[in-house]
Amino acid sequence: MVKTKNGEEKKSSKLWATNRTFLNLLDDAVIIVNKKGKIKRVNSSAIRNFGKDLLGKKLLDVIDDTSIGLLCDSIISKPSVDETQFQTSDLVPRVYRVRARQIDSNLYALLFLDMTFQRNLESVRRDFVANVSHELRSPLTSLAGFVETLLLQDLPDPEMQKRFLRIMEDEAGRMSRLLDDLLSLSRVELEEHIPPDEKIPIVAQIRAVCTNLANKASKRGMTIKMIVRRGLPKSTRILGNYDEVSEVFVNLIENAIKYGNESSKIKVIISLAEPSSIRIDVINRGEGIEKKHIPRLCERFYRVDKARSRQIGGTGLGLAIVKHIVNRHRGEMVISSQPGLSATFSIILPINP
Ligand code: ADP
Repeated sequence: MVKTKNGEEKKSSKLWATNRTFLNLLDDAVIIVNKKGKIKRVNSSAIRNFGKDLLGKKLLDVIDDTSIGLLCDSIISKPSVDETQFQTSDLVPRVYRVRARQIDSNLYALLFLDMTFQRNLESVRRDFVANVSHELRSPLTSLAGFVETLLLQDLPDPEMQKRFLRIMEDEAGRMSRLLDDLLSLSRVELEEHIPPDEKIPIVAQIRAVCTNLANKASKRGMTIKMIVRRGLPKSTRILGNYDEVSEVFVNLIENAIKYGNESSKIKVIISLAEPSSIRIDVINRGEGIEKKHIPRLCERFYRVDKARSRQIGGTGLGLAIVKHIVNRHRGEMVISSQPGLSATFSIILPINP
């Protein structure tokens, strides 16, 4: 009996030694326990996931989760039950699918498949679909309501009819902006990994965006002042995608117009930044943004004040689009604000990416 156990142990050590290199290549953690639940072998991913000094410890002391305990019990008593899931209780929880197999009379292998990324993706996708449906539903409901009202009235008052039609026009515009932004977002997401290759005279391009938006700003009594700091040659070119770079500054300056104080000045300051980069600050006076919101502003559909953003025609996608374009250009976006006073959106783009 003892002879057989020793023989099995030798065999499994040999098996482990032969496969160690391969097992260490895996992203998934492999832990081998004995019948008493003590850890006998681990691969490198197990150390990365569950910490050093695992050998000799009880698996349940390392992973304090009842489903793992049940899995260990059941694989020993009933080798057919061999899969479970668990979530760690860390600050940022990880989700694992665990498969167990008996190796010999005393050893059991557990494979931990890290499902966290996949789970997060699924939940992002679910949230996205829910958000899009919600965003489309409200203008659609409003449109349907007004159509119904107009149809029901025998002799609609022409003034009221006009008012209704204007609201309907606004709602249709909102849906159309949302669809445009959704398409834009999916396009930039798709191309994010492809470095852009057009040589863009960045100063002239930003000047063109400022000129194009001057009219929109003046409707709120605002002006746009562009300042090119000394030391930055006006002919500076960056490698980029012309339309996308325009989209970045259109979105940022339009936001400055939307969220800035009436009759205030928007500043667009272009300067050289280290190392070999160009920095563009879009600064507006206004209520600014509380610090707690800043890290989430680039999430799709995140708005500080949903009702206000909707009322002024926002889709909640502008900064998400900006972030993806800046990533594609290997650049960086920094948001800062003095709440109650101003907001600054800075874009830093490499001159020679
Ligand atoms: P939206 O279409 O709502 O403007 P964005 O993605 O462009 O969507 O911006 C997200 C949110 O960030 C806005 O709803 C607003 O709360 C905030 N925000 C953006 N730009 C500014 C700004 N210049 N000043 C204050 N808040 C801003």
